[in-house]
Amino acid sequence: MDGQRFDVVVIGGGINGASSAQHLAAEGYAVLLVDKGDFASGSSSRSTRMLHCGLRYFETPNPVRDFLLNPRRFRTALTMAKASMETRAELVTDSSDRLMPYTLCFPIYKNGPYKPWHLDIGFKILGGLGPKAVPLDYRRLPPEEACRLPLVDALAEPEQLRSVATFREYMLDWPERFCIDAVLDAERMGATVRNHTTARLIDRDASGEWRVGLSDAEGESVVTAPVVLNMAGIWIDEVNRPVLGETDGKRYILGTKGSHIAVQLPPEYHDYGIAAVNSIGEPHYCLPSQGGYHHIGPTETIYEGNIEDIRVNTAEVDFLLTETQNVLPGLALAKSDVVYSWAGVRPLTYDPAIPKGNRSREVHNLADQGMPNVFAMTAGPVMSHRSAGREMTAAVRRLVAPSGAAQSPDYAPRMLPEEANALPLVDGDDSVRLSHLGYVAEKEHARALSDILFARTGLGYRHRLTDAHIRKAAEAVSAHLGWDDAELHRQVEAVKMRRDRLHQPARDAE
Ligand SMILES: Cc1cc2nc3c(=O)[nH]c(=O)nc-3n(C[C@H](O)[C@H](O)[C@H](O)COP(=O)(O)OP(=O)(O)OC[C@H]3O[C@@H](n4cnc5c(N)ncnc54)[C@H](O)[C@@H]3O)c2cc1C
Repeated sequence: MDGQRFDVVVIGGGINGASSAQHLAAEGYAVLLVDKGDFASGSSSRSTRMLHCGLRYFETPNPVRDFLLNPRRFRTALTMAKASMETRAELVTDSSDRLMPYTLCFPIYKNGPYKPWHLDIGFKILGGLGPKAVPLDYRRLPPEEACRLPLVDALAEPEQLRSVATFREYMLDWPERFCIDAVLDAERMGATVRNHTTARLIDRDASGEWRVGLSDAEGESVVTAPVVLNMAGIWIDEVNRPVLGETDGKRYILGTKGSHIAVQLPPEYHDYGIAAVNSIGEPHYCLPSQGGYHHIGPTETIYEGNIEDIRVNTAEVDFLLTETQNVLPGLALAKSDVVYSWAGVRPLTYDPAIPKGNRSREVHNLADQGMPNVFAMTAGPVMSHRSAGREMTAAVRRLVAPSGAAQSPDYAPRMLPEEANALPLVDGDDSVRLSHLGYVAEKEHARALSDILFARTGLGYRHRLTDAHIRKAAEAVSAHLGWDDAELHRQVEAVKMRRDRLHQPARDAE
């Protein structure tokens, strides 16, 4: 690509960079999207996976007092809740194949911070804010009726329950797939997309365009573009550093770490989740997920460790188990019940006034840092990626006109082709057949076996893949990716390592 010129270079192919590339390409911009790892290999693959209705924006220790005393905070909560409701309606309408609906139960205790009418009003507001097409199915049940529901039957102190609110929520049934779909749609509309390619901001050339250095397995090249989007999530400050310098540059990111554990609960619990508050006043969820697991978490601590190697530690697993024992003692979970665990770091907006980071999504114009025509986005959740892409496109539109014609984005999930006669890789999971692996390798920019078994097909999340599965998958794709025996072996070992890290919860995860 050396010497190529684009209208926009997007650095970072997580969910928000991918969506930006998709919406820019739809507008007619010549776009280059690059990611240093696989697409979605950053925070986008480490989230709690919730597509929530926005109720959490109204959760404060004392909602009436807090919002009356601070009307601005209430307006922000309203804006964010409205955005959640709109996102929810959009994704449920056109991407239901990538979502898992479930009933979320919210216990209201006699001595708890919330009164039943708080929930009634909260849902009345939510119902009024969002499109009607996707109902919330809000109900508030008396304790004796609620305690017959799965998971509610495991709650602590049932005699102290005043009521249980239930409503319809969704899980993103694995977020990386949304990202891959957006990347492929951007490419369909003409974007150039490269994973396993590291981008480096160099400087501006004589005409004022940015020079961006790229390095991948084949070597180095330099491309130019009038506009650059720094969508590198927790790496945003690192991407700016060559231009802003080591010490003088403004800091944009504060990373908070979130750890989760996965457990297998009885099948009757599968469509139910619980939202509670932990002993330090933060949300504690137990939510159904693919593969029949429930995910428990997240933790929230400021992270200053190595952003290239984010792992769950035993103290976090212990904390999550203790909190779950407090909230749901009926599950009687022990360390041995933890099937796997994972952690991620949220790319929150750095604000010295907010110790745990500002959670509101921000677009930063870096012109005030001497970097004209560079924008960065912080704290963009997975669920609202489409509006993030539209917002970044609007920012670019104010600076430069597209060089090509506009097209329509296609949000339909890219499903694997019908292959009814081919054997599945994992017995009983007919959604991914052996022949699909080669298809994914050829058509979806997978370079590593891990790209195929996790981000593209989700198989590694739904199943604990055996060594035999991994070997069989590698053999199915090696011809497509031109691997010799040594490379095949290397790819197999890399997936085994990823699997073992995921599945090494409480014992040696330090
Ligand atoms: C614990 C946790 C729980 C969460 N729960 C939820 C939830 O329930 N629902 C929800 O909607 N959101 C949730 N989130 C938030 C969400 O996951 C993130 O905000 C979102 O994924 C950020 O996406 P992004 O595209 O901005 O960043 P990322 O996904 O991190 O993408 C940035 C990309 O930039 C690439 N990159 C970095 N440097 C370079 C470079 N020099 N060259 C090329 N590429 C580069 C990286 O490889 C990476 O892929 C959660 C996050 C965490 C960590």
